[in-house]
Amino acid sequence: DMAMYNQKRTKKGRVGVFDESLREQLLREIRLRDHLENAIHRHELFLVYQPIIASETGQIDAVEALLRWRLDDEMIPPDEFIGIAEQYGFIRAIGLWVLGEACLAGKRMQILQEGLGISVNVSIQQLLDDDFPTEVAATLKRTGFPAHCLDLEITESLFAHDKHRLIDNIKRLKELGVQVSIDDFGTGYSSLSVMQEFDVDYVKIDRSFIWTMDTGGRAIVEAVSQIASAFDYKVVAEGVETEDQRRLLTNMGIEYLQGYLFLPPVPEDELMQHLG
Ligand code: C2E
Ligand code: MG
Ligand code: MG
Ligand code: MG
Repeated sequence: DMAMYNQKRTKKGRVGVFDESLREQLLREIRLRDHLENAIHRHELFLVYQPIIASETGQIDAVEALLRWRLDDEMIPPDEFIGIAEQYGFIRAIGLWVLGEACLAGKRMQILQEGLGISVNVSIQQLLDDDFPTEVAATLKRTGFPAHCLDLEITESLFAHDKHRLIDNIKRLKELGVQVSIDDFGTGYSSLSVMQEFDVDYVKIDRSFIWTMDTGGRAIVEAVSQIASAFDYKVVAEGVETEDQRRLLTNMGIEYLQGYLFLPPVPEDELMQHLG
């Protein structure tokens, strides 16, 4: 059907560089889709961990699990393959695998640091699935990881979907004792109503605002921080890269910081060296 696609484009007279790159893009997507389906079984997926720092003490409060995919010798970025996993129906299996791996790693890390939190990114399709809260409960039971130490990060844009189902499933997750965060806050859709309607614990301010604090970003960070404290949410600033950003955010009362300034995402054994 690739040939047919090209033929259609050619008939319209749009040939050349554009067609060629579009064709390459489609071929790549198909190749990634075909491999992603078996990536778990081929042991191509693994997790790396990035600390979330308490700004007052500088101590590691939690670690976020971030998914990595090594296909042959290439690292495929999650921003590319998560969308493909969602589109082709692999995300629920992959997401469940991530959750199990993260809880097992969390259990090992808690030997070095009691009460350490683990944050796991969750896709819309997982959260819209009514089986998801049950699967989370089963994973917690199987791994022995404490529910109150697990934090599920939800990207704000997903709140554009079936609201009642989301509210209901979040409620069921919270009944397990699990915490919930809104990720990439400020970049998505209907930010302020999301704060009011969803019972979450943390708001993660998107890194684009942290990087523009010497222009417009600072006012946004301040506003989000004030609204969050009104709703009793804790605030995490993402993408902290400089000492100036750290100082400014700490002075603004942002409780948690995450970014390359502290540590990039690293393998479990490397992260372990920073715990205790
Ligand atoms: P996210 O959850 O917002 O994760 C933060 C991203 O920012 C990560 O990119 C992290 O490596 C990067 N980052 C952290 N600190 C800094 C910094 O100081 N500077 C810069 N430039 N970047 C920083 P990564 O690992 O490539 O992940 C991208 C996105 O992919 C994640 O954004 C998340 O939305 C998604 N993702 C990753 N793992 C999973 C997963 O297991 N499940 C799902 N559904 N999504 C995932
Ligand atoms: Mg996240
Ligand atoms: Mg984020
Ligand atoms: Mg993101």
